[in-house]
Amino acid sequence: MTAHSNIYPTKALQEIDAAHHWHPFSDMKSLNEEGSRIVTSADGVWISDSDGKKILDGMAGLWCVQVGHGRKEIADAVNRQMNELAYYNTFFKTTHPPAIALSEKLAKLAPDHINTVFYCSSGSEANDTVFRMVRTYWDKMCKPDKKVIIGRWNGYHGSTLAGTSLGGMKAMHAQGDLPVSGVHHIDQPYWFGEGQDMSPEEFGVLAARKLEEAIDEIGEDKIAAFIAEPIQGAGGVIIPPATYWPEMRRILEERDILFVSDEVICGFGRLGEWFGSTHFGVKPDLMPIAKGLTSGYLPMGGVLVSDRVADGLMNSGDDFNHGYTYSGHPVCATAALANLEIIEREGLVDRVKNDIGPYLQERWLRLGDHPLVGEARMTGLMGALELVPDKTDLKKTFPDTGTVGTICRDISFQNSMVMRAVRDSMIISPPLVLSHEEADFLVKSAEKTLNDTF
Ligand code: PLP
Repeated sequence: MTAHSNIYPTKALQEIDAAHHWHPFSDMKSLNEEGSRIVTSADGVWISDSDGKKILDGMAGLWCVQVGHGRKEIADAVNRQMNELAYYNTFFKTTHPPAIALSEKLAKLAPDHINTVFYCSSGSEANDTVFRMVRTYWDKMCKPDKKVIIGRWNGYHGSTLAGTSLGGMKAMHAQGDLPVSGVHHIDQPYWFGEGQDMSPEEFGVLAARKLEEAIDEIGEDKIAAFIAEPIQGAGGVIIPPATYWPEMRRILEERDILFVSDEVICGFGRLGEWFGSTHFGVKPDLMPIAKGLTSGYLPMGGVLVSDRVADGLMNSGDDFNHGYTYSGHPVCATAALANLEIIEREGLVDRVKNDIGPYLQERWLRLGDHPLVGEARMTGLMGALELVPDKTDLKKTFPDTGTVGTICRDISFQNSMVMRAVRDSMIISPPLVLSHEEADFLVKSAEKTLNDTF
């Protein structure tokens, strides 16, 4: 089929889109009035729209395109696999070479105590899988009362019922009787937004102790797991104070509950380690993964399972009654393998830790001096700018939360850079292949955007 963009002008494409396409997480009324942005091609860290404008992809798509766009090597591997075996399932004691090779590769990349993977097609499905795994695990351990899963307010774990429930997005909970029963939320470690009455260090410890308090209140014998993103992404790149994860580690080591590190954004190099939990020195029992696993070239997710949980669940002699038609899909697994090979060969994880990460961080943090910025923060290649109306009072927010952020995001696009707005913060998460020159462009464009916003 010929791409519509080759035939129709932008306006006509926008009209067709408005007539038939319901976009995720979008106010369709205003989107249809303004017209959607139509991205037609991409190369490296650059996307191009239907008017031929080139824009730096400061969000790596949706936090996923680690190796950059347009990698022919992935396309070629996928094409070969399509011709060899486009589909077969992994149910009922069947497998295929791409699933075998990818499982071995992931076991090698994961921390030593993690050697098993369960596949699905997205981060949301991965967290649905987690939900069943942790409860089934405790059943098998003859502790069936351990059912409660603790998440955090403003955490994001996907859009299925389980993902939405584990996440702490109140607007999503409002869509129905959510969260489902047996999920409890504790506060997030968001110092700028919620902790300014004390130092970040004090706040980090207190925020971590919310977990301890919840365990004591609910009862350790009733709690199956705690789930958290190493850095909350969709919540606004909430980088916890340095004291948070060490205190969490103490609590998790003392208590008999499973720890689920949601690595859907933080995994595959984004924080300068293969997994975000490694960056923070915490030891997960389960790690949901997706996004950077394939760099978004094809949809694939999974749950990396520790030996403790795998032994408990897999050696019980029963089926684990869960799985998806596309679990371990051969073409997606091939895309993942080709993607991981690029990350390894080009040393992208180390690059984030020792080269482009520090380079961009230094320049990004300087934006904190801008009159509109209350706080600039960045770890690895995940960054945020908190916009404030008055720098002398950082607790003051804009009267209409979200409005300034949205304006800033749109101006950023005009300045040839994709940033995302969360409340009134601006966030970035660029591809790991970003060059120094492109990092300079990104920061200049962000600065110009801030200047243009008021
Ligand atoms: N977990 C985290 C931490 C995420 O950021 C996301 C998506 O942004 C998900 C899970 C859900 O992934 P997906 O959109 O692939 O279902």
